[in-house]
Amino acid sequence: MAKTTGSLFTHLTCVECGKNHLRNEWNTVCKDDSCKSILSAQYDFGSNKLSKEELKNRSSSLWRYKEFLPVFDENNIVTLGEGFSPILRLLNQRSYTEGKQLLLKDESNNPTGSFKARGLSLAVSKAKELGIDTFVIPTAGNAGGALAAYAARGGLKAHIFMPKLTPKAFKDEARLFGAEVTEIDGNISDCGKIANALAVENGWFDVSTLKEPYRLEGKKTMGYEIAEQLDWTVPDVIFYPTGGGTGIIGIWKAFNELEQLGWIGSKRPRMVAVQSESCNGIYTAFHQKESRSAYKDGGFTIANGLRVPKPYADKVILKVLQDSNGHSISVNDTDILTALRELAAHEGLLVAPEGAALWHAYKVLNQAGWIKEGETVLLLNTGSAYKYLENITNT
Ligand SMILES: *Cc1c(COP(=O)(O)O)cnc(C)c1O
Ligand SMILES: [Zn+2]
Repeated sequence: MAKTTGSLFTHLTCVECGKNHLRNEWNTVCKDDSCKSILSAQYDFGSNKLSKEELKNRSSSLWRYKEFLPVFDENNIVTLGEGFSPILRLLNQRSYTEGKQLLLKDESNNPTGSFKARGLSLAVSKAKELGIDTFVIPTAGNAGGALAAYAARGGLKAHIFMPKLTPKAFKDEARLFGAEVTEIDGNISDCGKIANALAVENGWFDVSTLKEPYRLEGKKTMGYEIAEQLDWTVPDVIFYPTGGGTGIIGIWKAFNELEQLGWIGSKRPRMVAVQSESCNGIYTAFHQKESRSAYKDGGFTIANGLRVPKPYADKVILKVLQDSNGHSISVNDTDILTALRELAAHEGLLVAPEGAALWHAYKVLNQAGWIKEGETVLLLNTGSAYKYLENITNT
């Protein structure tokens, strides 16, 4: 028996050309061949009946916002309890945080140890609703683990393409979840080409970052949570480790939706995209005031999630940085490791290298006076360091 979620999802819109796409069909990117930009789920916020107060009685997972997510039948929800992660204050870094409120939203305790759980819970649930049973994904590690776990949970099949250089724990977990893992001598872009070809050949559903519209819906819930957990306010600044950019685009989308709901006002945080020096195309494009990024791969980085040579949604990421009066910082592996060790030894937080990069970036912008007295700053730590330990303790 179908049991409705009360979802207000109406259709998908192309962020570039505005072409509408149906909600009850398989969709990937814009169907206009000369466009192919990303699709963004739209909702009928005008007919919302849910109040902020009622939310307090909901489950401590991202599905507490189910009216604003795209799944219609509760039976199709594939969940492992993802989301509603804590926001912690940094306590023992006073020389850097004097006069500022420094917060860290900690995604490390999500299922499979990263915020990728959010996107894949949504993508797998919606795909199940549309009758899809086999997935393929190119991954730097965490997305593959998350897809494998949710596919196992939903009784579905997953094929995963991962660079050979990824730490062993990422491959092991995906195989334990029953996925077929293929190691590729190359980077995530090389994995993506193979995944895409096999998807076309075998009729598998390709859940590459932003080449289907629903992972974004999972990631946007971070924005809903930040506002709810800060009592319906937003921080002055958000630091985000940017690979494919789903989170930065999703959080921005969330704030616009919350304003349509009348739950927050028009204030927005300044968004900071933090990249690894290995792949800092967004950083370069931002500082050169370009609207697109160039392909850039400088090889290995301990922050595997940031080794994305060219984000598919580069244009959208750069627009968010611009519209928010944001910034972009590029961090090398030495500084990432120092930052990681500091947060571990002084805060008890074993954050992923991607998250550790934020702490270094914060110190740079704070030193430069870009962070002002009295401001609230949120670092979005995207994952746990446990799967990366072989690279961290060997360097
Ligand atoms: C994938 C990943 C990122 C990058 O996320 P995007 O939303 O693709 O920019 C950052 N940190 C970790 C731990 C990741 O797994
Ligand atoms: Zn389009």
